[in-house]
Amino acid sequence: MNNVFVYCEIEEGQVADVSLELLTKGRKLADDLKCELETIVIGHELKGVEKQVMPFGVDKVWVADDKRLYPYTTLPHTSILVKLFEEEKPQIALMGATSIGRDLGPRVSSALHSGLTADCTSLVIGDHEDKKNKKEYKDLLYQIRPAFGGNIVATIINPDCRPQMATVREGVMKKEIVSDAYKGKVKNIDVEKYVKPEDFVIKVIERHMEKSKVNIKNAGIIVAGGYGVGSKANFNLLTELAEVIGGEVGASRAAVDAGFASHERQIGQTGVTVRPKLYIACGISGQIQHTAGMEESAMVIAINTDKNAPINAFADYVITGDIAEVLPKMIKQYKENTK
Ligand code: FAD
Repeated sequence: MNNVFVYCEIEEGQVADVSLELLTKGRKLADDLKCELETIVIGHELKGVEKQVMPFGVDKVWVADDKRLYPYTTLPHTSILVKLFEEEKPQIALMGATSIGRDLGPRVSSALHSGLTADCTSLVIGDHEDKKNKKEYKDLLYQIRPAFGGNIVATIINPDCRPQMATVREGVMKKEIVSDAYKGKVKNIDVEKYVKPEDFVIKVIERHMEKSKVNIKNAGIIVAGGYGVGSKANFNLLTELAEVIGGEVGASRAAVDAGFASHERQIGQTGVTVRPKLYIACGISGQIQHTAGMEESAMVIAINTDKNAPINAFADYVITGDIAEVLPKMIKQYKENTK
């Protein structure tokens, strides 16, 4: 009872990365709370799915396997989660801030009157003192996320209702295996008892998956450009540098809005979260909404004409200069030194 639950998303038999990242975070929260970590996988042909999740420290895997449950549709997944949560009464329930999580999370929280904090960037356990009502709360989930357009970082708590629900975007949390030998239990859900016939009024007739060729999330080196790059044509300099040093091209939102780069390359609060070994920020000022997506980079080089640009505070190396002059020199140097 009162464990930590993670909803696992599944696509073609594979548990989504965001779910594995949440299991890693869920394990840490469960350790802090001295309770168990449970997960629920809903779909079809899920035999052996527990092998994918248990190494992340899962104590119990709930499996709802039925051909009507894959691909995802809102109603049956909601019914299963709501009923299971009513029975098991988790204290915390986490899911990915993906198109599925954004659809499912509010439905479940609304049915359970639990509340939900979307797009958290950090989750930790802490206490709270309600001075007005002279009440003390122990071991709450601090649901931390940027608020008011990113101008503040808010810590949101839910002292009274359960579960404390939160969604987290892919790439925000780290994914770490506890042990390949970690052993938990598998509980098969009797689907008929959890769904209603009317949950299946919607049928998915055809699906088309667009697979992106851009993979900045897992890139070891990112050359990211901002509004200061000046034009789409100037972005070619970044592409050239990225090719020479084996990296990917990223962008700030201002650069994406200006049409210099495609949205899938956007890094930050409303883009992708990255943590490469090397991040070269070209003509990026370093607003909080951007740095939220790259601040865990192992090494940052900032190239900016403004020596006081906020990005410089994150940088290990600052190059004060115009990218039109600096980048061709870097490309030349790298080409010469990698011959
Ligand atoms: P600017 O702030 O305009 O900075 C341009 C920089 O380029 C300046 O520092 C300038 O000195 C430098 N420069 C100019 N010319 C040159 C040159 N020739 N050579 C070198 N340097 C030069 N932003 C994101 O990036 N990602 C997000 O996910 C994101 N989400 C947001 C969500 C919300 C709700 C809001 C309100 C905003 C969000 N933003 C996001 C926007 C963010 O607030 C900033 O507006 C944006 O990051 C600025 O982009 P930039 O640094 O490229 O542009």
